Amino acid sequence: MNVTRSLFDEVMVPNYNPASMVPVRGVGSRVWDQDGNEFIDFAGGIAVNALGHCHPELVKALTEQGNKLWHLSNVFTNEPALRLAKKLTDHTFAERVYFANSGAEANEAALKLARRYALEKFGEHKQQIIAFNQGFHGRTFFTVTVGGQAAYSDGFGPKPGAVEHCAYNDLAAFEALISDNTCAVMMEPLQGEGGIISPDPAFVKGVRELCDKHNALLIFDEVQSGVGRTGHLYAYMGLDVTPDILTTAKSLGGGFPVGAMLTTTDIAAHFKPGTHGSTYGGNPLACAVAERTFDIINDPAVLEGVKRKEQLFRDTLATINDKHKVFSEIRGKGMLLGCALTEDFAGQSRAFLDASTQQQLMCLVAGANVVRFAPSLIIPDEDIAEGLVRFEKAVASVVAAK
Ligand SMILES: *Cc1c(COP(=O)(O)O)cnc(C)c1O
Repeated sequence: MNVTRSLFDEVMVPNYNPASMVPVRGVGSRVWDQDGNEFIDFAGGIAVNALGHCHPELVKALTEQGNKLWHLSNVFTNEPALRLAKKLTDHTFAERVYFANSGAEANEAALKLARRYALEKFGEHKQQIIAFNQGFHGRTFFTVTVGGQAAYSDGFGPKPGAVEHCAYNDLAAFEALISDNTCAVMMEPLQGEGGIISPDPAFVKGVRELCDKHNALLIFDEVQSGVGRTGHLYAYMGLDVTPDILTTAKSLGGGFPVGAMLTTTDIAAHFKPGTHGSTYGGNPLACAVAERTFDIINDPAVLEGVKRKEQLFRDTLATINDKHKVFSEIRGKGMLLGCALTEDFAGQSRAFLDASTQQQLMCLVAGANVVRFAPSLIIPDEDIAEGLVRFEKAVASVVAAK
């Protein structure tokens, strides 16, 4: 069978528009397409391949478990899931874990748990969910409604109700919205899809205090920011603010689909047998890979490495910008960085991405005005250097075409 990009247009639902080349193989932070062209990977499968492609330890965990036991359903528990849950609770605020298969599903569980908790503990009036403009929480109907871009949730009929949005980093607006009717607040402790926007530390502290005042649960969506991405195991640890519920996915599986919702014993108690579930959630194959991923990343040397590599990126990006004057700001944290475009290049992030692909560099956008990098947390320094050489060529070509 002749498998090319054009087959995509014949057989796939057209909700994506992938690049013209088709990758077939990856090692570390390098990827090869069907024609043998080599790419440097600053995209990391959208902040997922936290240890690069085909990390030998993850291949080992996957094949060992693959030869043992893949799937049972939650009619039975399994060793990898229990070990991973033990590690997640030992190393975070959480005491209880619920496994899902994706970020959206982890968030769906968090929102349903928050609603059930508020209903049982306080009554029917306590339903309001507050989230933030430009926030992203996944594509199920509940999570996309909680997400802060109406364009993604419009056009599908009646939305789940009592969901309201306010500006990120605007504590006064948030204070005006929250009340004793607020059930939960869902926020990313570093907005990813929305444009790589860091929270103001005073804002996060203020949100926590107001949640406490009004008995509202604080849910941190760490699907993108979690598992070492910011140089902390979880971003909340760098903010000194502890949520009531935390969701984690993307990097957690190092490329194998898995998600989890973490919370306290008291809150977890409102999910009883039958209240919520998933056929695949917590399957042994996913949990075995995630356990190994978590072990490798939960290491001070790896987390320090993320901070050091961030500086390498920032230094070279500053040099590129001195020359080409295309960025108004380099923002984000750790291996989640955004190059915000100046007014002159407003709306053109896709042009930078396409030019990068031309130069054999894989990167991402975060909205129309930000070029995003979310590479492996252990990307070799040489690959950062070489990738940025390619990125500078891409920048120069966009500037020249203007
Ligand atoms: C990617 C992402 C999600 C959705 O995760 P899926 O695995 O695609 O369902 C949710 N929240 C945040 C912050 C994300 O970045």
